[in-house]
Amino acid sequence: MVSTPAWPPKSLPRLFVDQPLAAGIGVEVDGTYLGAVLRLRPGDAVKLFDDRTGEWLAQIAEAGRKRLTLIVEERLREREAVPDLWLLFAPIKRGRIDWLVEKATELGVARLVPVVTRRTIVDRLNLDRLRAHAIEAAEQCERNALPELAEPRKLDALLKAWPEARTLYFADEAGGAPFAPAPGPAAILIGPEGGFTDEERAAIRALPQARPVSLGPRILRADTAALAAVSLWMGSAGDW
Ligand code: SAM
Repeated sequence: MVSTPAWPPKSLPRLFVDQPLAAGIGVEVDGTYLGAVLRLRPGDAVKLFDDRTGEWLAQIAEAGRKRLTLIVEERLREREAVPDLWLLFAPIKRGRIDWLVEKATELGVARLVPVVTRRTIVDRLNLDRLRAHAIEAAEQCERNALPELAEPRKLDALLKAWPEARTLYFADEAGGAPFAPAPGPAAILIGPEGGFTDEERAAIRALPQARPVSLGPRILRADTAALAAVSLWMGSAGDW
């Protein structure tokens, strides 16, 4: 018996476009990836998402040397709800921070917040580059809601304005309870390569919403600690 292949096939290329999508509109995109790399031609199908209205099926109408024009056809999925988890991390070196943003996006984090601490050694952060990594990860992992990437915040300012209903899981390499996330809005705070100072540790612990947690007996690199903690949270309080 001949079976009808699912349409659209799951493996269609996915692309984020930074404009609101709707049925029937034309969208122009850079042709480098879809045209030059994937060699797609007029008539080929692509999935588009805009981080606003969800994910759409589109068809290539024109393929120029540098630009492609697509016509949006039908909505495939509404914008998805992602688990309410923020990841707060002290900026670390390029390469490691790119990896952190990519993996946190794949794992389903809703908001990424760079936090400046006393021992943070990276003073300039290229948010555009980080956003590009988040977009690429979302395109690859079938996510259609991008994580929000916040401007860097100083730790003390962040603690002062901490939302009342959000639990702050503070990954404390100096010790804490084993990480056992509870349901509800949450954030995970990871320190820089040099760790937190004693004053910072005391200030975080003084916040009523803070829960100092241990990630095991070994000292993990900041990026490993971030992704281990996010995985633990997603596995018990998230959508895994
Ligand atoms: N220089 C610090 C030291 O030797 O104690 C280590 C800092 S560690 C590389 C960076 C961050 O990862 C820490 O500030 C903490 O937030 C987190 N982290 C690493 N290992 C951890 C663990 N076993 N438990 C809890 N948090 C950990």
